[in-house]
Amino acid sequence: MYSKILILRFSKEIVHKPLVCALVKDYDLTFNILNATVLPRKEGILVLELSGDRKNFRQGVKYLKDQGVKVQNAEQEVKRDEKKCVHCGACTAVCPTGALCIQRPEMTVIFDQKKCSVCELCVPACPTRAMKVRPTNYVFF
Ligand code: SF4
Ligand code: SF4
Repeated sequence: MYSKILILRFSKEIVHKPLVCALVKDYDLTFNILNATVLPRKEGILVLELSGDRKNFRQGVKYLKDQGVKVQNAEQEVKRDEKKCVHCGACTAVCPTGALCIQRPEMTVIFDQKKCSVCELCVPACPTRAMKVRPTNYVFF
């Protein structure tokens, strides 16, 4: 499963077309809308997490671009939801950079975001879904 957070910009000429629905129907992709805004001049901006087979993902993005949608990759960061973390240590086994490590003797799991390469390996490894990928280079309107 390939997944990326994308920023889609629709001109007012195409903003009402159901282009994103085609990603599901024709490219077998799934999406999760993180933010949707229509600007005063009627342009639309959609921030979504798009997931699916890597080849389908590429073809789906090409389809959007062919339809006139401006597609931009959101820069991403990995965050930990401290309330969800139970310090089980599962993520430390997959983290290649040491950003997640066990602090002894307390046996708590420390997350040092400065060491994180955003490889995303910890996201599926965490049983409580405490590790999340978040976009960083856009603002919510
Ligand atoms: S796998 Fe999840 S719950 Fe376990 S220590 Fe890591 S972030 Fe916390
Ligand atoms: S995204 Fe990768 S580098 Fe960052 S904490 Fe998770 S496993 Fe470690």
